[in-house]
Amino acid sequence: MNRRLIFVDLDGVLADFIGGVRGVFPPEMFDEAATSQYEVWNWLGMTKERFWSVIDRLGPAFWSDLKAYTWTRALWAAAQMAGDAYILTQPTPHPSCAAGKVEWIERELHTRKYLLAPHKAACARPGALLIDDCEDNCQAWRERGGVAWLFGRSWNHSRLSSNDVINGLGSIEGCIDAYASLAP
Ligand SMILES: [Mg+2]
Repeated sequence: MNRRLIFVDLDGVLADFIGGVRGVFPPEMFDEAATSQYEVWNWLGMTKERFWSVIDRLGPAFWSDLKAYTWTRALWAAAQMAGDAYILTQPTPHPSCAAGKVEWIERELHTRKYLLAPHKAACARPGALLIDDCEDNCQAWRERGGVAWLFGRSWNHSRLSSNDVINGLGSIEGCIDAYASLAP
């Protein structure tokens, strides 16, 4: 029997992208009332273009220096146990992003099971699970027939915690549809 395909997002799920952003801009620039939004440039009152121009200037180190979360290794290990697991991450158009992400993944998780894909939904297929903190990514995945678990963060509406996801991966066939219906 083929093992279930599992795709795990990087930023916001395994790598602390927001922590990295908070290290770049002074605290007074952050509008904490806006941190329920997924688009981090809105937290800073910036345009998307201006935000990425600042990040791009930092080169690969911005991405390779991101911290792992306390749950990162346990979640990745659980995903590998549960099926045929890959990290699926969307690089920005600037080449330094892809370079830094590759460095991060190989250093922190010692794996080459990753896909850098501007169009994540191209990997979706019936039965394939996506674990991602972006509602739009989850929705696009579902529209292509896949199953998506929206990873709960302050910037989305999901109640799925890291523990829920790790436990769910441990009994994946019982949780696959139940978890998918928990999130919007
Ligand atoms: Mg993400």
